[in-house]
Amino acid sequence: MPRIAVVGAGPAGTSFVLHALRAGVDPSDLVLLDRARFPRPKLCGGALTWRGTELIREIAPELVPHERARMETTHLRFRCDLGDFEVREGGGQWLYDRAHLDARLLELVRDAGVEVREGTAIKGVEAGTDSVQVRTRGTERFDWVVGADGARGVVARSVGLAPGIVGRLVEAVYEPTDADPNPRELIFDFDPIRDGIPGYAWIFPYPKPEVAGQANTGTHAGLYKLGIMDGRGVAAGEDLRAWTDAFAERNGYRRVDTKLAGWPEHYYSHRTRAHVPGVLLTGEAWGIDPLLGEGIAPSIEISRYAAGRLKEALDAGVRTIPRYEKTFRKTEPGQNLRFQERLADLLYGKSPDRWLKVLFSHRRMLELAAAGTEAYGRLEKHTWMLTRSYAWQLLTGNL
Ligand SMILES: Cc1cc2nc3c(=O)[nH]c(=O)nc-3n(C[C@H](O)[C@H](O)[C@H](O)COP(=O)(O)OP(=O)(O)OC[C@H]3O[C@@H](n4cnc5c(N)ncnc54)[C@H](O)[C@@H]3O)c2cc1C
Repeated sequence: MPRIAVVGAGPAGTSFVLHALRAGVDPSDLVLLDRARFPRPKLCGGALTWRGTELIREIAPELVPHERARMETTHLRFRCDLGDFEVREGGGQWLYDRAHLDARLLELVRDAGVEVREGTAIKGVEAGTDSVQVRTRGTERFDWVVGADGARGVVARSVGLAPGIVGRLVEAVYEPTDADPNPRELIFDFDPIRDGIPGYAWIFPYPKPEVAGQANTGTHAGLYKLGIMDGRGVAAGEDLRAWTDAFAERNGYRRVDTKLAGWPEHYYSHRTRAHVPGVLLTGEAWGIDPLLGEGIAPSIEISRYAAGRLKEALDAGVRTIPRYEKTFRKTEPGQNLRFQERLADLLYGKSPDRWLKVLFSHRRMLELAAAGTEAYGRLEKHTWMLTRSYAWQLLTGNL
């Protein structure tokens, strides 16, 4: 009988299982449940940062070089009416069709001998003193339940773990009409801030699996995903849709999808609780990068941590993980998410125009962006250097 139910087979759920197995959990102790049948659609730009690709390589080395529904880019481009600059990481970024990426990861879970139940919606979870009851069509008891059920997770809600900030995003597939896009770059456009929307718009190449000849060429100027992230969830969905279509037209794109679809994002906060006895959260159910909404890589990083902590609890025969959230905050991924949280609070907070100006003129930050040695979202280690150089620039009147 499985002792641990993992709810949600997105990157958080599958990577949790794969990391748990690596930590020594027996496959027969795990069951992975998802309400969807795979491959299932997931609204997502599908962009994986350089660190994200490394994280996938760690759990699924065979997947990175062979996945057919993907493309590679060389850099990110941040832009707004103040100017633009390239962000070069220590390696390239990968673009995936999420339906395919998630289905491939799920295959690996199945191949490892773990029971997978698709088409199984969890309606609620009740944490008791010595087991957790999971409601589907009937009920089933487990020693542990792992909530990897994403932005609208039922697990967190059922056990009273309140969410942090929830953003609102819309996205669709477009094709260039007057645009001459560079399929090797990911565009992050911060102009929405000028229109009172705390977020950015994106233009990402889209490696649609069924477009013949597109996969792996990396040069196909075919389809693109355009969308907008409202990082505070303050704008109405219809305003975000209108903004995105106008943005697309300005940039020379025509919508291919019949409509712009919307989905929320749940952001990491150092205050969010993610554990009660017998239940823990991972991935977006706990929270992702609040600055740009990078979700795939942080979900895998959180799951690596969560799987290790659960294994410790199983070995100790306990149902409470001491300092689950606090200890994560001290890990490198936890510190980086906290750093992103601080940046998001500034850029999407009370003085967005001021911090947008800082982002586009902070000399040291621009040097790091150009260096090609760093990774997006992993700059916490440079906090003091960045703060010092910011203060110096302020004092010398250059900001
Ligand atoms: C428009 C948009 C664009 C994005 N672009 C990017 C991007 O380019 N790069 C990036 O890194 N991130 C991006 N993200 C964020 C990223 O998609 C998520 O953060 C990531 O998928 C989180 O992984 P997860 O496994 O935690 O959750 P999910 O991928 O959401 O998986 C959760 C799973 O749980 C299942 N589930 C939910 N409820 C239940 C239930 N009650 N019972 C059973 N199963 C359930 C769902 O079916 C789903 O399969 C984007 C998000 C949006 C909305």
